[in-house]
Amino acid sequence: MTLPTLPPLRDVIARHGLSASKALGQNFLFDEQLLDRIAAIPGSLKGQNVYEVGPGPGGLTRALLRAGANVLAVERDHRCLPALAELAEAFPGQLRVIEGDALKIDPAKEIGGPFHILSNLPYNVGTALAVGWLGGDTWPPEWLSLTLMFQREVADRIVAPAASDAYGRLAILAQWRSHAKIAMPVHRSAFTPPPKVMSAVVHITPGEAPEGVKMAVLEKLTGAAFGQRRKMLRQSLKAVPGALDALEKAGIAADRRPETVTIPEWCDLARQLG
Ligand code: SAM
Repeated sequence: MTLPTLPPLRDVIARHGLSASKALGQNFLFDEQLLDRIAAIPGSLKGQNVYEVGPGPGGLTRALLRAGANVLAVERDHRCLPALAELAEAFPGQLRVIEGDALKIDPAKEIGGPFHILSNLPYNVGTALAVGWLGGDTWPPEWLSLTLMFQREVADRIVAPAASDAYGRLAILAQWRSHAKIAMPVHRSAFTPPPKVMSAVVHITPGEAPEGVKMAVLEKLTGAAFGQRRKMLRQSLKAVPGALDALEKAGIAADRRPETVTIPEWCDLARQLG
């Protein structure tokens, strides 16, 4: 199949008057080689469903379409829709665009089959979206993989190992039943306009959920413990009924601080609490 010839992204932006809006977290990527590399992170997308949040002028969307994916994209900025409609025309039957807020959309319902999620996320809603996808009640989830651009500092918190400075609730949420890694650091100069900080693409795939561990219990425990990060567990977990007994049963010393507790230990603790 020959791929359609598309105008440079900078021309698309100029023709549709897409000046970047700070309020919508718009930092666009124009380097098509970089975009193709991001689209390749989950493996072959040929014939696969992809959910993309925030296509903007469609840089990553193009790369996904070139890779042969069927894309559902949700974009909040109506100014981007004409540019995306041109893209849909260039790749007939491969792209559906919804104008709306990704925080209110359930892609599983829209797509009705397994799908990958890829996004150069709007930074103001990125963490909330990722927490929603990682914290769902259904496991394994409907998504096959997450390939998400974050500020480097957030990416580091997602993949952080126990006992590191960045380790906390986000690392536990992202790793207790999933595999998370940094797939690609991205320099701030790759974006237009460049954000103040560096970025990184994180790749997450679902793993097996440890038996007998409830998401809600894990959340309650880590919320209480990391809410008072400098305190010993004996103190911070006092407010969670049964937690001190559970510590003893799990063989976790009550004078430890939450960042020293490994993910299997957190799971053990949650299991004891039921
Ligand atoms: N994908 C494009 C790229 O890589 O060049 C644009 C990425 S830009 C960082 C984030 C995009 O998300 C913007 O187009 C913005 O309008 C859109 N956006 C912001 N908040 C959104 C939301 N709540 N739901 C859907 N899209 C949103």
